Amino acid sequence: MAETIFSKIIAKEIPASIVYEDDQCLAFHDVAPQAPTHVLVIPKKEIASLDDLSDNDEPLVGHMWMVICNLARELQLGDGYRVVVNCGRDGGQSVDHLHFHLLGGRSLTWPPG
Ligand code: AMP
Repeated sequence: MAETIFSKIIAKEIPASIVYEDDQCLAFHDVAPQAPTHVLVIPKKEIASLDDLSDNDEPLVGHMWMVICNLARELQLGDGYRVVVNCGRDGGQSVDHLHFHLLGGRSLTWPPG
């Protein structure tokens, strides 16, 4: 898998506003927030997209969902929030390293564009 800007954030080669880190994943504020709270949760393992997950990744993905839930509580998104994964070009994915967008802090509209 080609190295992305997120690989460099994991390696601490470029800065990010990190809100959570453990041995499996990293969470940091999106540089171009689409809501008052916009955090990206990424695996440290280099996985290009949702489409590239394998059965072996099931525990990692479960762990990431729990990290997202805990972050939503810590960031006080009690009135509601949205978790988005863009996959592939038609899905709007621009960075080829799996990431979950955690968006909240305002009323979010539906459907997305
Ligand atoms: P996506 O379009 O779903 O692939 O989302 C990629 C996200 O990464 C976008 O929301 C970008 O604003 C965000 N992004 C790109 N570079 C950085 C960076 N250096 N630090 C934080 N967020 C970034």
